[in-house]
Parts: sequence; C-alpha cells; structure tokens
Amino acid sequence: MDLLIDKADYILTLDNERRIIKDGSIVIEDGTISCIGKTDDIRKKYSKKQFEQVIEGHHRLVSPGFVNCHVHAHEHLARGLGPNDLRTGNHLLEWLYPYYGSLDADDEYIAAKIACLDMIKSGTTCFIDVGVTNVDSLGKAVTETGIRAIIGRRIMDKPPENIPEKWRPGLKESLYFGSVRSALKETDENILRWNGAEKDRIRAWVILNGKQTCSDELYVKGSELSQKRKVGFYFHMASSIEEAKLFERDTGDWPITHLDKLGVLRPEVLMAHVVALKDEEVKLLKNRGSKVCFCPGTAVKEAKGATAIGKFPELLSAGVTVSLGCDGASAAGSFDMVRQIYLVSTIFRDARMDPRIVPPEQGLEMGTINGARSLLWNDQIGSLEAGKKADMILFDTSRLDWLPMIDPVRNLVYSADGHSIDTTIIDGKVVVENGRAKFVNEKELTDQAQQRMTTILKKGGVKAVHAWPIV
Ligand SMILES: [Zn+2]
Repeated sequence: MDLLIDKADYILTLDNERRIIKDGSIVIEDGTISCIGKTDDIRKKYSKKQFEQVIEGHHRLVSPGFVNCHVHAHEHLARGLGPNDLRTGNHLLEWLYPYYGSLDADDEYIAAKIACLDMIKSGTTCFIDVGVTNVDSLGKAVTETGIRAIIGRRIMDKPPENIPEKWRPGLKESLYFGSVRSALKETDENILRWNGAEKDRIRAWVILNGKQTCSDELYVKGSELSQKRKVGFYFHMASSIEEAKLFERDTGDWPITHLDKLGVLRPEVLMAHVVALKDEEVKLLKNRGSKVCFCPGTAVKEAKGATAIGKFPELLSAGVTVSLGCDGASAAGSFDMVRQIYLVSTIFRDARMDPRIVPPEQGLEMGTINGARSLLWNDQIGSLEAGKKADMILFDTSRLDWLPMIDPVRNLVYSADGHSIDTTIIDGKVVVENGRAKFVNEKELTDQAQQRMTTILKKGGVKAVHAWPIV
C-alpha cells in the first residue's frame, strides 16, 4: 500500500452529496483513491503498518486540489509590470507583448517552473496554460514539478492595425502566425507530442489567443482540429466591453453570437473571461454546453466590469459550468486560488446587494469540480471519491486564521489563504511536504528570478515605471 492519510479532522469530498467527513481517512494506491471514509471504518479494513507512508491528519483539513482554468505560466517573470492605470488592451500591447516576444526557450522554462512551484505550494494541483510560445519548455517544467496540466501554444493570426512604436523589429512576426495552416500544423505537432504524456498527467489542447486577434478561419479550423484529435478547444473571449466592440466591428456580431454562427460552440469549448455577454447569450452557452472560466482577480484589477456588467451569477443559475482562473502573474498578481474563490464568493453579493448570490460553497465548487468539468477531466479529478485520481491538499488548521472551527467551508473561503497548505498530493505523489516542494530546488530556482527578469526586459526594450519614486 502506498499512502494513508490517517484521521484527518475534516475531509471536504465535493462528491455528489457534498459530504464533509469529520474524522476521516483516505487510502491511496497507484495514484488513485482506493478507499475514503470515517477513520473507524477504514481501520477495520487496513492497518497503518501496511502503508509505505502515513500522513497524520490531526489538525488537518483535506480538500480536492484546486483546478486553475486560466494560466499564463511564462508571465511569472513579469509580475508587477506595467503602470496602474492601463486598460487590458494597452497593458498587453505596450507591456506584455514586448515581454513575451523577448523570452527564449530557457526563460520560458524558468518562468513556467516558478509558476508551477507557486501553484503547488498554494494548493493548485491542475491547470491549463494558454500563453506559451515554447510548449516543450512548459512541458518540462510540468514534468519536473509533478503538477497536472493541459498545455499548448497560444496562437493568433490577426495583428493590430497600429503597431505600438516600442515594438522591436521582428516582434510582430514572432507573436503572430502568417497562416492558419502553419499555426495549426505546429499545434497538431504539440498535441501528438504531449497529449497523454507522463501517464496522462499532461494533456494538450488546441489553444488560441482568441478575441479579435484570430480570424474566423482560425476559429473554424481550430475547432475542426480539436474534434479530429478529440481534445478540448480553448480561447480568451469577450474579456471587456472594449474588446467585445472591437470584435463586433470586425465581424458584425457580439462575440458569443458570432462564434455560434461559425458553429464552434460545443461542450468541448472553454472560454476565459466572458465578461461582456448579452442576456440571450447566457441561454446560448447553456444550450451549446460550452464552458466559461471567470478570472475574478484580473477582472477587478484590470477594471473589466465583472460586477457592473458580468452575468456570472446568471450563467451559474442557468446551469452553465463556470470555473475559476488566475490568468497571468502580471494581469492578476496572485496565483492563490483561495483568493479567487473568496472574490467570486463576495463581489456579486455586494454588487447585487443580495447575500444569497454565490455562497462560499458554490465558490469552492467553481475552484474544484467545475474546474475539472471545464477541463473535461471530471471523471478523474475535482472531488475526493474512491476510484478518482489522488489529487488533494491538506490545510494546517492549527493556524490562527483557521481557529476556531465552526464551519470548515466558511473558514476556508473567508478566513484562510492558500499558504496555509502544508501538503500537496498529485497523482498519488506527495509533491509538497511541510510546506516545501519535494522535487524542486526552490532556492536555486527563485534566486534566478530577479536577474532573469532584468535581462528579459532589457532585451524587449521594456522599462518598468512606478507611481512612487524608488530611492
Ligand atoms: Zn489570459
């Protein structure tokens, strides 16, 4: 027997009945949960001596690992880049694209590895990335850190009409594909190389940058490729009113309506942001079965208008699968999924002045089981049940932010954060123990971050600006 979690104070199962097991134990064999239940019942079947490793569950709350449905792992060396008063479009074109275009394969590997480390230490056990240029760099970082992920190269084929002055020569060509054929050829090669790697801990999808940066032909042929390879199809969409209007200017339709006319909305489609949505498009998404990833940290920081115009409570009420994502470290700042769960469980209650909207339990569902559904992986992850993959996190509930324990979900969502996690288990393997990553030399990795960031910004001709003088 591989691993026993013995006598945990609480286990949030997220199973169909949403049971919270008080005084529970979990048996893990070959990367899978083979038994979960009350400690007394587990002890009738197993003895501690049978196990290679026993994790004591006293002062521990066990939860399914978080599923982060929107990540730009290569942005982890650009945290804090860009002035405070920029709209998303300017932030991307003037700051992030020059940064993206200056990353070499090794920079992307280091940035991605730091992002993976950030995630496993704050409770994310699975993510989908939508941003890298060099998929092998990301795949290597995922392989080594032990996290579960869906990867792919972000592609786009419609450059902006006005190229910003600060773009270096060749930047446009490095960011945009010259043809749909070449873009999808590279995507297909990545899928064939990575989908199912590491005993299916890594999968690969068709990933577009989306919004107004992709042609209709790219959406249609990208959708066809995802069907041919039986993988998901992901892109950014309708992130703000400004972006939706640009999309409408180019196509004549509001984004979701146009995508439906193109025939690309299917249950295997996941879209990030989806803030600018018309009432009738809520029903359209429900009917098509397409999924939505909401990024609350980015929305509130970048003034996207989620609380003013967003229809996330309506999407949830209609039965659309809505999950959560952190976006990039520069866009959102934090990679703590508990922060995203907290935000979604609070901002709409206040905006609508209605305490019944998005309760903390629903926020937690969005960060776990809804994430698994969005990634078409809910047959194996997203809840703690016998037969599912052993992807779970253990919070240290002896900390002050967890005391006293009256309601575990309220404490988790309203009081704690992802850094009260003590242990992270992915695919049955302990990847974080006593708050330290097991397969990463953390110091060696993090020591490189500052110097590498400086070199990358220099290469891209990007000069950081600050609101207050740093003296
Ligand atoms: Zn994004």
